[in-house]
Amino acid sequence: MDLSERQREIIKIVKEDEPISSKEIAEKLGISRAAIRTDLSVLTKLNILEAKPKVGYFYIQGRNDLDFLDRLFNMPVKEIMSMPVIIKEDVSIYDAIVTMFLEDVGTIFVINEKNRLSGVISRKDLLKMSIGQNDLHKTPVSLAMTRMPNIITIGPEDSYFEAARRISINKIDSLPVVDNKLKVIGRFSKTNIASTLVEYRFNR
Ligand code: ADP
Repeated sequence: MDLSERQREIIKIVKEDEPISSKEIAEKLGISRAAIRTDLSVLTKLNILEAKPKVGYFYIQGRNDLDFLDRLFNMPVKEIMSMPVIIKEDVSIYDAIVTMFLEDVGTIFVINEKNRLSGVISRKDLLKMSIGQNDLHKTPVSLAMTRMPNIITIGPEDSYFEAARRISINKIDSLPVVDNKLKVIGRFSKTNIASTLVEYRFNR
């Protein structure tokens, strides 16, 4: 069904200012409330707008459709991932803690002399070392990290859903994104899961 010029104008206003009352919509259009009553009822019946009593009108078109979730779930990790924070195996626990603060991440990836992923070091790994009898300046991260082959990784072409699934079932905060030679090219974390979901909800 084709929408009228005015109905399209109403949709634009609601998208920008939701929730918005019919009185406010009418004011913005410079016409009476009665004049837009039919338009609002048509847009509500078409499931383009939703009217919540005492709150106002919301734009809901497509928000209930499951295609949206499908598209999100299939989105490749490379379009979502963040920059990885990477250190070498001989870096001290002390320097790893400083790096974690400066870079504002919860997990650091460790690489070997061939620049391949060899470990993951998390906040808890560093805390554990800090409450023991260790000289944090002399102890290398290689003594505290989780090592290959126990690291759960993800590939750049894998999906958002697969990455979220691995994080969920393994109860970890993040995954190193690696190429087929185990070179670390990104980081996919719980924050990526949450922010992509929120952005997606607003932008579609
Ligand atoms: P935090 O220590 O900040 O709670 P995690 O829950 O991610 O962070 O880490 C818990 C444990 O899991 C740590 O010992 C860490 O080394 C390990 N770990 C973190 N990420 C991974 C991963 N991708 N693969 C395997 N082990 C991991």
